[in-house]
Amino acid sequence: MPKVLIIGAGGVGAVVAHKCAQAPEVFTDIVIASRTKSRVDALASQLPRKVTAAQVDADNVPQTVALLKKHRPDLVINVALPYQDLHIMDACLEAGVNYMDTANYEPLDTAKFEYKWQWAYQEKFEKAGLMALLGSGFDPGVTSVFCTYIQKHFVPAIDEIDIIDCNAGSHGQPFATNFNPEINIREVTAKGRYWQAGKWIETAPLSVKSPFAMPDGLGTLNIYLMYHEELESLGRHIKGLKRARFWMSFSDNYLKHLEVLGNVGMTRIDPVRFNGTDIVPLQFLKALLPDPASLGPLTKGKTCIGCQVKGRDAEGKDKTVFVYNVCDHEACYKEVKSQAISYTTGVPAMIGAKMILTGKWAGKGVFNMEQFDPDPFMDALNTHGLPWNVLEKSVFEKP
Ligand code: NDP
Repeated sequence: MPKVLIIGAGGVGAVVAHKCAQAPEVFTDIVIASRTKSRVDALASQLPRKVTAAQVDADNVPQTVALLKKHRPDLVINVALPYQDLHIMDACLEAGVNYMDTANYEPLDTAKFEYKWQWAYQEKFEKAGLMALLGSGFDPGVTSVFCTYIQKHFVPAIDEIDIIDCNAGSHGQPFATNFNPEINIREVTAKGRYWQAGKWIETAPLSVKSPFAMPDGLGTLNIYLMYHEELESLGRHIKGLKRARFWMSFSDNYLKHLEVLGNVGMTRIDPVRFNGTDIVPLQFLKALLPDPASLGPLTKGKTCIGCQVKGRDAEGKDKTVFVYNVCDHEACYKEVKSQAISYTTGVPAMIGAKMILTGKWAGKGVFNMEQFDPDPFMDALNTHGLPWNVLEKSVFEKP
């Protein structure tokens, strides 16, 4: 009887818990553990069926090992923060449990995320006969599955990928982030980077932008070139790829606040001595900003996240395909009491877990999403609340 242990009870953890609870045929037993037990208890009380609530500091490997040995889950879904990834992977190896996450490891003192630290666990997981699935959120996650789906069914020879993440929604707050503020601001203020002809090309943070007309009449937003982790794994796994870029929309208001906060030093991640105590300005800022989980009832509008893939079809003719999902913030809140950013991350995390627990995706070692057959995952997106569409045309042109 499959048992899953979810670590993290924030915005994303709450959606994962709701969606796993909705699928008892796959997730027979659910344990939720996080650093703050009261948050786990509050979440557990909202779910449609009984789950086990526990406390854990996932940075403490022996503590996590003891928790895993006590509950003996088949899989850990790590939806704590990227800083915990390696600690939880270590605990999984020691306790003999499969592992999954939605964001790649990032050291606390450097705003830099790369797969190298987690890819280095390949041999250990392989030898232990365990599986680790990395990045099963929306981006990374579904975006890689969209690319391999397009490759399998439309464009076998891929030349270019543009991943476009738009949020046309609004929470009405002067400034707030839709997921963990610290992780979000570290990501957004980092240098832009894209993959071209086997090399990384670096750009100044948020310096390259373009208007993007979203499909389904959702309107036009400015999207900005950013580095994002799936570019690294797509570069490794999509053979012959010539260019891969990632774009995200930001409102002028968000960027104005971010610029001022950056200028005054509030986004720094190094400790600053204040009244005899070391404080990290970004961590202090996080304490001031709205908790992303509190934005659920306030957020209206839709998200639109998709991948445009250019290349050649089976006959060698030029072909461009865009696959995308549109998600409604208010509908998400009605279903699971979360806005669409947490929803679009938590649903694919549940689906990734379902792929592993039902044996549809199997292997020993460390895997990225594009290494598996996209079809069962794509079917599950339709069933579990993230339906997608295919447009066999170009929707975005930016040399
Ligand atoms: P939140 O800050 O809302 O929640 C994080 C949760 O992790 C909290 O419950 C927190 O506990 C818990 N936590 C933090 N440190 C520890 C620890 N040492 N031990 C145990 N639990 C801990 O973040 P989100 O839910 O917004 O994001 C969760 C993850 O999802 C992040 O890794 C983020 O990068 C990723 N993400 C991925 C996306 C994708 O599409 N792939 C998109 C959005 C997010 P406490 O309550 O005590 O703080």
